Amino acid sequence: MSVLDASAIRYLVVHCSDTPDDEPMGAREIHQMHLGFGWHGVGYHRVITRDGVIEAARPDYWQGAHVYGHNEISLGVCLIGRSAFTDAQFASLETVLRGWLADYPDACICGHRDFDYTDKTCPNFDVASWCLSRGLRVGPPPTA
Ligand SMILES: [Zn+2]
Repeated sequence: MSVLDASAIRYLVVHCSDTPDDEPMGAREIHQMHLGFGWHGVGYHRVITRDGVIEAARPDYWQGAHVYGHNEISLGVCLIGRSAFTDAQFASLETVLRGWLADYPDACICGHRDFDYTDKTCPNFDVASWCLSRGLRVGPPPTA
């Protein structure tokens, strides 16, 4: 495993699992899925279930596997589902992000799709607009 340099964290990246909204799962299932990809298990640091339960995945000091080319400078949180996220999930997402902003005040919140390198639509909503609606600070978009 690679250990993250906490002072290097620049991005707090929001993802979704891109699984059917009516399919309940959590960090354990994501872990199995990512093992199946040949990875070192779950690539995110937090997983938020459909009920809004915040599940610990990789510890924050362990480099994630969720945003190609930027894993060494980011943390990742994954909402279970594809498009219709629950109010409980959004409340928990805010909790996770506020906690991270307290620990990593220089980091910027963004969605996976905000990175230019990817054609993915993950997490399938406009994270910057959502942050504004929650009074969360939005940084400049990723530069690569
Ligand atoms: Zn993603």
